[in-house]
Amino acid sequence: MDIGFIGLGQMGFHMARRLLEAGHRLIVSDTRRDAVDRLTALGAQAAGSAREIADAVETVMASLPTPEIVLEVATGKGGVIEGKRVRRFVDLSTTGAVMAKRIFELLNEKGIVQIDCPVSGGVTGASKGTLALMASGPRAQVAAIEPALAAIGRMFFISERPGAGQTMKLCNNFLSAAAMTATSEAMVMGVKAGLDPRIMLDVINSGTGRNTATEDKFGRVVLPRTFDLGFAVGLMTKDLKLCLGEGKTLGVPMQVAEAVTRVLQMACDENGPDKDLTTVVQPVERRAGVEVRAERLGAALPK
Ligand code: NAD
Repeated sequence: MDIGFIGLGQMGFHMARRLLEAGHRLIVSDTRRDAVDRLTALGAQAAGSAREIADAVETVMASLPTPEIVLEVATGKGGVIEGKRVRRFVDLSTTGAVMAKRIFELLNEKGIVQIDCPVSGGVTGASKGTLALMASGPRAQVAAIEPALAAIGRMFFISERPGAGQTMKLCNNFLSAAAMTATSEAMVMGVKAGLDPRIMLDVINSGTGRNTATEDKFGRVVLPRTFDLGFAVGLMTKDLKLCLGEGKTLGVPMQVAEAVTRVLQMACDENGPDKDLTTVVQPVERRAGVEVRAERLGAALPK
């Protein structure tokens, strides 16, 4: 299948690479030249703009950082909306349901179908092709891209209603961020009390406190202090703010999400929004005066 792909960052690079490796022909763009070069080296064709891509292919995918950027790339000047061949715009970014519906309506006026299909599974999932894909949009249009999406993960059809996939994604990321922020506080508390963080993880992962932060993030990138998960804390903060907005619109109390958002915002303010999500532990560490650090995971029991 001929596919356009816009946004070749932490997630987009791997998704585009896997589509190429599955035999699809790709025409790609990114505002960063080096990001485009990495894909053309693998056989993709480079394009100068979103419109150029939408002139060339029927299916355009995007993995872009913020809702505003997706809106501009999809419907702005020189955007997908101006393309002559495009029939469907598949948004793999996290934009929230309100923006997804807005883009759906704007593109619909030009006969282009927007499918929101946010993803979960992080850079590791993108690299291995094991992402959870949350698709919503007209069923026949979703079916048309399902074989291609199989190269990047497992697709879940959420609803024909535009934006439903985004709501699903925000529920997921709220829980993921809650796990990361709560685990940060629990781990700092244990370490300050003199517990070995490796033993803590072993115990928690055998008990009822286990979650994606204890099973993966802490052992892999926090204890060794590499902080290179590949998801910026600023992007997760954006997701939580979108989640709070949707909760408010729906009339759902979200006190835990509010607290999680405050912790994420503190990390953005103190470390910078481009730093890794896992740096959320650092403001807690600073105030407590300890670091959650260990040489390696496992073999934790002292002889
Ligand atoms: P990223 O910042 O690494 O990548 C975004 C890419 O878009 C960059 O290469 C950037 O140069 C490019 N870009 C920005 N503006 C552009 C424009 N106007 N035209 C073309 N290219 C443009 O972000 P990411 O981590 O890959 O995340 C992408 C999306 O996926 C976000 O919406 C994020 O919330 C979501 N997401 C990320 C992860 C993760 O673990 N990183 C997981 C799930 C979902």
